[in-house]
Amino acid sequence: MTVSATEAPAPAVPFEFFELQVVRKQRIGASMVRLTFGGAQLGRLVSGGKDQRFKLFLPHPGQQAPVVPTASDNWFSEWRAMDPGVRALMRTYTVRALRRTPQYPADELDVDFALHEGPVPGGGPASQWALNASLGDPVTLLAPVVEDNGGVDFRPPPATDWVLLSGDETALPAIASILESLPAGTPARVFLEVPHPEDRQPLLTSADAEITWLVREGEERHRTEAAVAAVRETSLPSGTPYAWIAGEAGTVKALRRHLVRERGVDRRAVKFTGYWRLGISEEQLLAEATANAPAAA
Ligand SMILES: Cc1cc2nc3c(=O)[nH]c(=O)nc-3n(C[C@H](O)[C@H](O)[C@H](O)COP(=O)(O)OP(=O)(O)OC[C@H]3O[C@@H](n4cnc5c(N)ncnc54)[C@H](O)[C@@H]3O)c2cc1C
Repeated sequence: MTVSATEAPAPAVPFEFFELQVVRKQRIGASMVRLTFGGAQLGRLVSGGKDQRFKLFLPHPGQQAPVVPTASDNWFSEWRAMDPGVRALMRTYTVRALRRTPQYPADELDVDFALHEGPVPGGGPASQWALNASLGDPVTLLAPVVEDNGGVDFRPPPATDWVLLSGDETALPAIASILESLPAGTPARVFLEVPHPEDRQPLLTSADAEITWLVREGEERHRTEAAVAAVRETSLPSGTPYAWIAGEAGTVKALRRHLVRERGVDRRAVKFTGYWRLGISEEQLLAEATANAPAAA
C-alpha cells in the first residue's frame, strides 16, 4: 500500500496575525480542554490539516488582550525586542479542526490543550490559561493563509508502505488529525501515551490503524517513557516505514534512536519534534534555541 503524499519541501509562505475569541469550552478528557475560537478574521485562516502548527499569543494576567507585534513580517525580531513583562506569552499549538459555515463569520477553530501535571503545580501559563478561559476571552494567533505551508511536518514520501505515529497528550491533537487524513487502508501503528484512562478518545480514520493507548498512572504521571518501551516490544510490519514522533523531547529522542539504530529505519524517514521538555518552559527553550542563532525565528 502506498501513501499518497508529496515529497516536495514545504514552501516558506506567509503567516498572518488573527485576533480571535473563545466561543466554546469543553472538557474532552481528564487532562484535556478543547477551546473553540471564532471571530470575523477567521475566514482568512487556512489549515494544511494533519499536524498544522501555529503560534498562540496570550495576555498576561491583568491585561485586556495579548500585546503582539504590529506586522507579520519581521514579527519575531519585533516580539523579542518588546518588554517580556508586557509582550504576549507565546506558545505553539496544533489546529485540531477548522470548520467553515455558510453563516460566515461563524467559522470555528478547535484547539485541544493538555492540562499538564508536570513539576509546576497547575501547569505552565498556557495550560493554566486554557483551564481558566471564559467565553469571549481574546487571543492572537500567528497562523497560515495558504494550505501548503511550512507549519505541516507530516510529509511521508510516496514510496512509504506503512506509518508509525507516536506521541503523548500534547501530540494527540496532531495524531488525531493525521489519522483522519490518511488514505483508506494505509497500514498504521499508533502509540498514544496519556496520563489518565479518561484521556483516551475515539479516533476517526479509514487507515488500517492499530492503536495502542498507554496510560500513565501514579506518582510519575508527568513522565512519558512508556511509548519507547511499547515500541521496543512490538514487531513492526515489513516494507518501507515513515515515522512521525512528537511529545516530550527526551522521549522523542529516545524513540528516534531506537527506530534508527535498533530497527534500521532510514533516519530521513523519521520526523521527530520535541513538543515540550521536562522541567523547562517554552521561554527557556526559545532562549536556548536563539542564543547561538539570534536571527533564527
Ligand atoms: C509544533 C507543536 C505543537 C504543539 N501542539 C500542542 C497541542 O495541540 N496541544 C497541547 O496541549 N500542547 C501542544 N504543544 C505543546 C505545548 O506547546 C507545550 O506543552 C507548552 O510548553 C505548554 O505551555 P505552558 O505555558 O503550559 O508550559 P511552559 O511554561 O512552557 O512550561 C512550564 C513547565 O511545564 C512543563 N510542561 C510543559 N508541557 C507539559 C506537559 N504537556 N506535561 C507536563 N509538563 C509540561 C515544562 O517542562 C515546564 O517545567 C505543541 C508544541 C509544539 C512544538
